[in-house]
Order: sequence, then C-alpha cells, then structure tokens
Amino acid sequence: MRFIDLTHELKNDTQVYPGDPKFILINSKDTNKDYSLLEIGGNLHTGTHIDAPYHYIANGKKVKNLLLENLIGKSNVFDISHINPNKEINIEYIPTLNKTREKKYSTTNDLIKGLEKIIILKTSWCNNWGDENYFTENPYISKEVAKIFVENNISGVAIDSPSVDSYGENKIHKIFLKNNIWIVENLTNMNKIYEGIYKVFFIPLNIDAEASFIRAFIEIQ
Ligand SMILES: [Zn+2]
Repeated sequence: MRFIDLTHELKNDTQVYPGDPKFILINSKDTNKDYSLLEIGGNLHTGTHIDAPYHYIANGKKVKNLLLENLIGKSNVFDISHINPNKEINIEYIPTLNKTREKKYSTTNDLIKGLEKIIILKTSWCNNWGDENYFTENPYISKEVAKIFVENNISGVAIDSPSVDSYGENKIHKIFLKNNIWIVENLTNMNKIYEGIYKVFFIPLNIDAEASFIRAFIEIQ
C-alpha cells in the first residue's frame, strides 16, 4: 500500500487568503531552554483545509460534527488541468457530468452512475502556489456543476485551488455548505495523480470550529 500526500506543509508565514489573519508558527521558548515549544496563530483556512457548513450556515455543522465515514472513502478524481485561470469549471470540463445533459438529467432519482461520494477536482492550479495570483485568479466551480453534485448526494468536494468560488465570491460555498457538503481547498501534489477512482483520506482536527487544517492523502494500489 502506498500513499500520496496531497497536503501543503504548514510553516511560519504560509501564504493566506488576502485579508485573512497571518499564519504564525514560532518557537515560544527562549533559547536558553533545552526543549522546543511552538506557538501557533492565524486562521484555520491556512494551507490544505476543510470548510464545514458552519463557515457560512449559522446553525450548520462544525468540523467536530463531521463524520469520519464521510471523510474517508472512494473518490472520483476529475482531471481538468487544461482549464485557464479565472475560468468557470462547467460541465463541459467533466465528461461524466456532461452525459447528464444528453440524458436530460432532471430528477434526484436519476443519479449519475459511477459518481462516488467524494469528488476531487484536479485543476493543477496548485502549481501556482506561492505566486501572486494564486488566490485571485483560480478556476472555480459553476453553479450548474455544484447543483449536480448536490443532487447526487455527495459528501464532499475537494479542489487544488484556494476556493470553489472565484475571488471575492461565496455563492458556490453556500450551495455546498447549506446542503451539508464539506469543502476541501488548497490540495497539492496533483501532478502525481491521474483521473480515476481512489480511496482518499481527509483527516481534520476534532475541533469546535468552522474549518480545520487537514492531512489529505490518497491510497495508490
Ligand atoms: Zn476555506
């Protein structure tokens, strides 16, 4: 069994979404002591993280309420690396969903075959991590695609970009979170995986909060 780590390293001054509190990870002990004790500060949306419904929904679930059963399991990785910056991920980019258009997909009784409960979108935008435009020009999910995921009762959606929304927007977050679908953002190392079905592990902290850093990895046979 082999794993591929999809997680950014958290370190002092890791870049954060513009305007969010800075991430701090510093040794808080004076240098005369013979041990280390690090102090952490900043915000929970730093690096590879999960958004729980409470992020936008007042009575929504917090991270501590998310079921491990829904955070570990089979996932579809859809490769949409050919997408340009600032572009909407519509169903043309995901042939599996595009079939639904031909079928005049309409009701929740007509679920898409082969769609797993966890969806991972590989945009390869993670290659721009550290660049000035990383947080502002990312590809983002269209309303239509978000609704198809909702109708198919997925548990969660993950992306290798800073957000499922375009910069400054939140409507796609709200569609997912109000339907109890968690969101994982800032995956990395996507060049190591290809389109297909993988067992994935998204492991958050047991925390009374709207978001959490996670360790994200997939199993390779
Ligand atoms: Zn977030």
